[in-house]
Amino acid sequence: MTQPAQPKASHFINGAYVEDTAGTPIPVIYAASGEQIATVHAATPAIVEQALSSAKEGQKVWAKMTGTERGRVLRRAADIMRDRNHDLSVLETYDTGKPLQETLVADATSGADALEYFGGLAASLTGEHIPLGEDWVYTKREPLGLCVGIGAWNYPTQIACWKGAPALACGNSMVFKPSETTPLCALKVAEILHEAGLPAGVYNVVQGMGDVGGALVTDPRVDKVSLTGSVPTGKKVYAAAAEGMKHVTMELGGKSPLIIFDDADIDNAVGGAINGNFYSSGQVCSNGTRVFVQKRIKDKFLARLAERIGNAILGDPMDEATSFGPMVTENQMNIVLGYIEKGKTEGARLICGGNRADMDGYFITPTVFADVTDDMTIAREEIFGPVMSVLDFDTEEEVVARANDTEFGLSAGVFTKDFTRAHRVIGNLEAGSCFINSYNDAPVEAPFGGVKASGVGRENSKEAIKHFSQVKSVYVRMGDVEAAF
Ligand code: NAD
Repeated sequence: MTQPAQPKASHFINGAYVEDTAGTPIPVIYAASGEQIATVHAATPAIVEQALSSAKEGQKVWAKMTGTERGRVLRRAADIMRDRNHDLSVLETYDTGKPLQETLVADATSGADALEYFGGLAASLTGEHIPLGEDWVYTKREPLGLCVGIGAWNYPTQIACWKGAPALACGNSMVFKPSETTPLCALKVAEILHEAGLPAGVYNVVQGMGDVGGALVTDPRVDKVSLTGSVPTGKKVYAAAAEGMKHVTMELGGKSPLIIFDDADIDNAVGGAINGNFYSSGQVCSNGTRVFVQKRIKDKFLARLAERIGNAILGDPMDEATSFGPMVTENQMNIVLGYIEKGKTEGARLICGGNRADMDGYFITPTVFADVTDDMTIAREEIFGPVMSVLDFDTEEEVVARANDTEFGLSAGVFTKDFTRAHRVIGNLEAGSCFINSYNDAPVEAPFGGVKASGVGRENSKEAIKHFSQVKSVYVRMGDVEAAF
């Protein structure tokens, strides 16, 4: 197997690659073959200290630059990422196992979009002037300071950029800890940012498991924590951040509803359900894994769905014809297979898939269960794999209540030709990122994030600026000061 163009060391600190082999070795496994393709070392306390102190110093330099200057660096980094899209996509495929057909269009490209978008906004981040007769108040939009980003394993390049780009645009510095499962791509993001002219120390990457994340979150120099991960991890990180009264953004898990009314265009609805369940082999937080189908079209929907799933191409992720890759790790595969067994024993009807594919790597066949009821485990818990649950419904009122009956609230979608109903249903669904006659589009211009247990704060769009900056207000008196004595 040809090895990927490896990052040069485990960490990127103060503008350079840094190694410390005293840290616990973390093997990087290629999910399509089970082979080890790299080793990184978890950050030792000395590495964590180096990263935090360089970020503290780097931030002072960065915040003094103008927004135009900061934006120029980010936009230059976006251009470099696009120029290197092919190599970065190959690395993303090695890191995650996702097919190159996907990574070529979804990862470095969306990272570059974030760098370009927030690079463009950087110069326009200003306060306001509030007249009060002769006096006035002015506000300044200031950076928070030192931000920590912690990533999940499904989109390592994108997450590094979605957190880094708005943080840096606002004049913050960042220490980013990728998931221990996919440690390689964020190092390339750091390398490119520095090649684009980022001052040393402004964007640092350190490796490690939860304990390294914990050390970053609890450090008193850190002003903000942005996590992408599961709800249980989110609860721990949120609580630890609260101890230090730090700002947080939590992008967590989901069990999102996708509602298909009987007037919907069946092929578009099937396409939405496929995008919302099988892209990245189902390892997407916003997936619409509870597919509610109105009874009249259920059989037609299931037949067309099974037919189209038959066209999925499982195979070598580096072959651009492959449209469906493996689970990221053997462990994740076993978790998902466990859920599939639960689906079978709890009485759901298997329409297709339902097993490990007979090939190298951690492949699970795209799986659809029908006749799923609200109380089944597969309808309640986030699976994070290619398992779609199809549930029947009769009325709008009923489906909205059932869709909202979950602790999660990340996404929701509706397919119908009746636009009045579409907007009414979306208005009644408890979710942060919603779709009408579509599913899982995530352009950088649109806010992204969840309600309820799915998270706090928003990534992307102008909303992200609010979560990486704070407002200082200054009262200016023009006349004399009156006092009681
Ligand atoms: P995870 O929660 O296991 O880990 C996420 C990150 O947190 C990792 O980098 C991990 O090392 C770190 N971590 C773990 N314990 C920590 C602690 N105590 N303190 C600090 N850091 C700690 O999640 P995962 O398995 O990597 O990713 C899958 C989950 O992420 C799913 O639930 C998925 O829905 C969610 N996710 C959400 C979004 C979103 O934008 N909402 C996007 C992608 C993934």
